[in-house]
Amino acid sequence: MSLSNTDILRWLQRSAQVLHENSAYLTQLDSAIGDADHGINMDRGFTAVTTKLASMANADISTLLKTTGTTLVSTVGGASGPLYGTAFLRASIATDNKQELESADVLAMFNAALEGIKTRGKAQTGEKTMIDALAPAIEAGQRAQADDADLSEVLRSMVSAAEKGMKRTIEMTATKGRASYLGDRSVGHQDPGATSSWLLLKTLAETVAGS
Ligand code: ADP
Ligand code: MG
Repeated sequence: MSLSNTDILRWLQRSAQVLHENSAYLTQLDSAIGDADHGINMDRGFTAVTTKLASMANADISTLLKTTGTTLVSTVGGASGPLYGTAFLRASIATDNKQELESADVLAMFNAALEGIKTRGKAQTGEKTMIDALAPAIEAGQRAQADDADLSEVLRSMVSAAEKGMKRTIEMTATKGRASYLGDRSVGHQDPGATSSWLLLKTLAETVAGS
């Protein structure tokens, strides 16, 4: 099993729907430790992405990811725009010239995206950000792949680790981004960016399961 350009396109378009449906939830999480705009930011960015992708049914995987990255950078004002934008641009580079993505390619793509976020955000795991959902997800995916799991199982293991990582952000003190202004008062709240990262992974796993 592998992912084609059509699968990637469906993932990105469904993600726009999922982020739209979860916009109020993400914004509510951001109202506790940020400025109450994460859902609005993600919804605005991915709505612009679907508009751009509407005429790109024949584009290859790398081009779809590149368009997503540039669109997020140019339409999302908050920290998440440049961070997710960089992630998708790095994912585009990692998938250059690939017509299909096998498990190893998907893991390499997410790893490149994560490295882009860490560099751009000058952040590491344990700082209560999207990294705390993505990093454990990639580690779990690599373990599943080492156990010869197929792509859908690799993705399921990534979603479940991302969900656990997202929940672990509740007890973390934020040391990066707006939530860091609250210091210890950020404890007790789930990170909005970790939540949107989990939603993006969950949507990819569902897209693969449904295809
Ligand atoms: P803003 O903080 O500018 O309002 P958003 O609300 O859209 O932007 O996004 C906030 C999310 O961005 C946080 O929940 C966190 O996951 C992520 N984030 C913020 N700063 C960083 C950083 N330096 N590195 C990684 N992720 C970050
Ligand atoms: Mg915000």
